[in-house]
Amino acid sequence: MTDVAERAGHLAHNYHPLPVRVATGEGAWVTDVDGRRYLDLLAAYSAVNFGHGHPGLVAAAKAQLDRVTLVSRAFENDRLEPFADELAALAGKDMVLPMNTGAEAVESGIKVARAWGYRVKGVPEGRATIVVASGNFHGRTTTIVSFSDDPQARDGFGPFTAGFRTVPYGDAAALAAAVDDTTVAVLLEPVQGEAGIVVPPDDYLPAVRRLCDERGVLMIADEIQSGLGRTGSTFACDLVGVVPDLYLLGKALGGGIVPVSAVVGDEAVLGVLRPGEHGSTFGGNPLAAAVGLEVVRMLATGEPQARARSLGEVLERRLRPLVGHGVTAVRTRGLWAGIDVDPAVGTAREVCERMMAAGVLAKDTHGQTVRLAPPIVIDEADLHHAIDVFEEALASA
Ligand code: PLP
Repeated sequence: MTDVAERAGHLAHNYHPLPVRVATGEGAWVTDVDGRRYLDLLAAYSAVNFGHGHPGLVAAAKAQLDRVTLVSRAFENDRLEPFADELAALAGKDMVLPMNTGAEAVESGIKVARAWGYRVKGVPEGRATIVVASGNFHGRTTTIVSFSDDPQARDGFGPFTAGFRTVPYGDAAALAAAVDDTTVAVLLEPVQGEAGIVVPPDDYLPAVRRLCDERGVLMIADEIQSGLGRTGSTFACDLVGVVPDLYLLGKALGGGIVPVSAVVGDEAVLGVLRPGEHGSTFGGNPLAAAVGLEVVRMLATGEPQARARSLGEVLERRLRPLVGHGVTAVRTRGLWAGIDVDPAVGTAREVCERMMAAGVLAKDTHGQTVRLAPPIVIDEADLHHAIDVFEEALASA
């Protein structure tokens, strides 16, 4: 057996985790089974934006555990409407479609866009197209990997779902050329997370918005990783003054406690769904709604966003000078960074292994990129310490 297989035991080998076994977590810190503490600079891919064991979120979950946890959508529950009302208000939209995982939110957004295309726009049934971007990551279901251009995500999993066109990310002219009368939506990450925190030119998303308005096409922003505070605003789209037709949300919406995702949009779009056409046994369950409601209330104060903004400035100030010193490029958006490691220093995985040995957990992506996404609650001193450790990991090649 390989090292990965030995460690995984009876687990399928679909991950290659760093060899650390976490037992507990608090704030930006986790502790392993041997009592060793680590700073968590991944925050479960931004699902733990508010830190491990956030007291307000844990209290909301515990209180709901004692009331009721699941009734399915066959009945109403008294947590779901408050959650939907306040999430819709946070997003400035009319309606919320609650689901569980990010991939489900994306799948749901695709279904809504197609239904809107046939019922409202008048696209002939079965002909709808959706334009997506190169380098995208929207999840792992068979339809979603159908429009991935990452061979690892896609190869060997066909046959693929039709109806998607891929254009280069950040290129508004290419997008305009790909839109035709069958196009129902443009689906984009406002900042590409898995691709390595790829930030498009500032005029890109506004140009996409204008194009969608002119051509009668929905703009769908996958804010599953970029949304809910990470970039220093509620949504990454806010940073360039853009409002999409549909937000896809997930990860941090469940406060790192339960899977909660949602499609959020106006009635003119989300209202196309009719009873019985779409659903989920667990989507909108009372436990998820209670935690999600607490997350929305925290974000409504603006405090997490402001903290991500100010700590993000620290991150940018510390990382930028590293370019040319073991690092070939740095991209930041709020408290979120993609750092391309000079191959002379090693692979990003090797850098992450050295950081782990020094008590800081981070994750490589696409070979040479280290992604940093600390919990927004991280102390500034801890952030400086983590960056010191990153610098030492570059130097210790
Ligand atoms: N969309 C984006 C932008 C993501 O980053 C992810 C996960 O990394 C997903 C969708 C899929 O979310 P999940 O893993 O909860 O299905």
